[in-house]
Amino acid sequence: MRYISTRGQAPALSFEEVVLTGMASDGGLYVPETVPQLSTDDLSEMAGLSYAEIAFRVMKPFVNGEIDDDTFRRLVTEAYATFSHDAVVPLNQLDANHFLLELFHGPTLAFKDVALQLLGRLLDHFLNKRGERAVIMGATSGDTGSAAIEGCRHCDNLDIFILHPYQRVSEVQRRQMTSVLADNVFNVAIEGNFDDAQAMVKASFADQSFLNGTRLVAVNSINWARIMAQIVYYVASAVALGAPHRKVSFCVPSANFGNVFAGYMAYRMGLPVERFVIATNANDILHRTLAANDFSKQELKATLAPSMDIVVSSNFERLLFEAYDRDGAAVAALLERFQAEPTALADAPLTRLRELFASYSVDDATILEVIREAHHRTQEILDPHTATGYRAAERERGDASVPMITLATAHPAKFAEAVVKAGFPGVPLPPHMDDLLEREERYTVLPAELSAVQRFVVDNRR
Ligand SMILES: *Cc1c(COP(=O)(O)O)cnc(C)c1O
Repeated sequence: MRYISTRGQAPALSFEEVVLTGMASDGGLYVPETVPQLSTDDLSEMAGLSYAEIAFRVMKPFVNGEIDDDTFRRLVTEAYATFSHDAVVPLNQLDANHFLLELFHGPTLAFKDVALQLLGRLLDHFLNKRGERAVIMGATSGDTGSAAIEGCRHCDNLDIFILHPYQRVSEVQRRQMTSVLADNVFNVAIEGNFDDAQAMVKASFADQSFLNGTRLVAVNSINWARIMAQIVYYVASAVALGAPHRKVSFCVPSANFGNVFAGYMAYRMGLPVERFVIATNANDILHRTLAANDFSKQELKATLAPSMDIVVSSNFERLLFEAYDRDGAAVAALLERFQAEPTALADAPLTRLRELFASYSVDDATILEVIREAHHRTQEILDPHTATGYRAAERERGDASVPMITLATAHPAKFAEAVVKAGFPGVPLPPHMDDLLEREERYTVLPAELSAVQRFVVDNRR
């Protein structure tokens, strides 16, 4: 199995190379050249297996023999042993046929742990094998930074530098990052906003000479291994509800589209899925594109579901590549137009997408209403991201006899502001985190100057 770029111009890579590489050199994203198939028997045999074993079986073809089975099984088992629930991603029944897939039992209480607990271990494995070290740089306004830090804190061959805007992330989110005192973890608070931090990370990737040859690695959701790890919970939850003998639908709170794309891959591998419902907050580019064929950028809105506040949905490119019959030149042309002006998808690809995907956009007032309504009906307190999914699932579910699985992407305690606004006294942190607000913190405040940040990285990497 090789990996190819969605824009058709970059060289094909092995699994190892694709894990160590972020964006393709032609500006595209890597996808597997062929889609491995899960037969009816493969799926039937997964019933009752542990999450780690299902994960091993689903991901093995993508790894392509580049990690021996025993080692890969060990990496997967260690990654999911960090979750506080034995089921790793338990299903929680909301009504006769609507289920929440709780993806928030990992170390940082959001679904990004599912991918980043594995990605850190994969990177460390390959670097160790090569006798190399690498530096990770990332900018975060919240969930990604803490999940990346937790995923890398035990990695001998990695040093991780996460930039966040000084005094502009919530206390829980900051402390989840800054209370990790491992000596390969560096938190930098930038005296600026998120865009300043992001711009410095981008500039560092564009010109890596300041690192004198040390590899710089990205852990954002364009890394293929993150998508690969997320395919697993679609398969595991569908099998738990009767796949392959019964179809299911999924509703996914979405921003950069990495999560939905993983679901789409599960479908392409042979999982019987009726439809995917894409839930967005007021930053609704995915909904506008699917519902109105309005593929255009709009100004960023700050919402109560901040981890879904985006202007451009980077992983949507991977779906466009499929919708355009893997025509890299057509995808490149479309995205070039999109960068310059409002545009639209061609008719045939749009029609194809609408057969499988529905979408719904949920504003802040509705998020609060849904948190109250869901609590009234089920006694569950939803986080604001999951709330967009709950509403979208109810509005767009189609055939009510098909089980609907809504992905719960964060624990409500992580986004207590919205829960309090909805009229609840707040949500306690789970027991393993209840001392978070007393833990020692470590971070360095730096000006929003590229040279200062790069000097800090060079001076501190091991
Ligand atoms: C990152 C994130 C999302 C969006 O996921 P995508 O893969 O970017 O679509 C949704 N909810 C939460 C809580 C997140 O952290």
